[in-house]
Amino acid sequence: MCGLPNRDASFSCDPRLMAHPWIAERTLAFDSSGIRKIFDLAAKLKNPVNLSIGQPNYDVPDRIKEALFSAVREGRNGYSPTQGIAPLRDALRRRFVEPLGQDEREIFVASGTSGGLVLTMLALVNPGDEVIFFDPYFVMYPSLVRMVGGVPVIIESGPDFRLDPQRVADAITPRTKIILINSPGNPTGVKGSTEDLKQIAELAAEKNICLVSDEIYSQFCYDEPFVSPARFNPQTVVIDGFSKSHGMTGWRLAYVHGPREIIDTMLKLQQYTFVCAPHPVQWAGIEALEVDMTEYVDQFRSKRDRIVAGLRDTFELAPPSGAFYAFPKLPWGTGDEFIRAAIEQELLIIPGSIFSRHDTHFRISFAADDAILDRGIEILQRLARR
Ligand code: PMP
Repeated sequence: MCGLPNRDASFSCDPRLMAHPWIAERTLAFDSSGIRKIFDLAAKLKNPVNLSIGQPNYDVPDRIKEALFSAVREGRNGYSPTQGIAPLRDALRRRFVEPLGQDEREIFVASGTSGGLVLTMLALVNPGDEVIFFDPYFVMYPSLVRMVGGVPVIIESGPDFRLDPQRVADAITPRTKIILINSPGNPTGVKGSTEDLKQIAELAAEKNICLVSDEIYSQFCYDEPFVSPARFNPQTVVIDGFSKSHGMTGWRLAYVHGPREIIDTMLKLQQYTFVCAPHPVQWAGIEALEVDMTEYVDQFRSKRDRIVAGLRDTFELAPPSGAFYAFPKLPWGTGDEFIRAAIEQELLIIPGSIFSRHDTHFRISFAADDAILDRGIEILQRLARR
């Protein structure tokens, strides 16, 4: 299919793209994100109950905005060093790298976690290399892997969405290059147990496979503290950022840390692609690290409780312990049928098939006002009882 290696036959090529002779083959290996279609629909509704959005519903705290304004006023508007400004890297190193006690670990500032993921794939994946990750997955993963000619090897995590080390072990082949994990995860909100993360980390080390940990939801852990698998495997590449934690999705600020040679290679690639993360935003990032976000996380914990309490009796739901998503099972019909019925009631949710090879669940983002959440719960209950 599309001339690219593929172990997962569920993707399709967009015939409109195939029609134009100039379009590169690598772009035919994936479709555009189905989430956009929901956002387009949202724009048409007058008073939507929008539980589809993957970003916090709070604005960037004022102190961080002021730091950005100052940086711009002070003329910090040119390029920054490729690896990011030294004071931000130092602050990030102190906060996230030193506690790991791994001297060989290097860190750089990336243009969003997405940028970090792109550079990771470009740096590590040869055509035909396999990248293992769990289903359901963040929408970008299969496409990113295919973009660089890699082969997504997608393993089940259902019905409880556990990151089961045995399933990872069973999927390893001589072509496995990366194990990519995301805990707490999008779209399930489920956080891997310390024991599972430890075993996956040790398995990667034992098999000499690169473990990549997407930790974008690390600040949103509601029941237990966050644990990075890097603690158990110093070769782990960690990608995290400010988008979700500080409501800064449009500012494109993230960081990647890992083995020095891999980070150096990613920097070589950053030179010729992103060049640098937005420079004034990097100065604001230093301020962001000083802001205590606990109250925001506490609010999200109570939203999580609200959603779980509202849906528990009606829907089959693996309780989310992190991020700001819940991933209930469809009560009837296909995702398309259920989402269509929801949209008729002005409720916007995302069909699970966007994050999965199965059409069995749907994603709710609980990053919304409590009144919106309550309306959403009411509509969902009504729909389920239809
Ligand atoms: N990883 C995951 C799991 C995500 O959910 C997202 C955003 N939805 C990203 C990465 C990308 O985040 P960023 O804004 O930092 O590019």
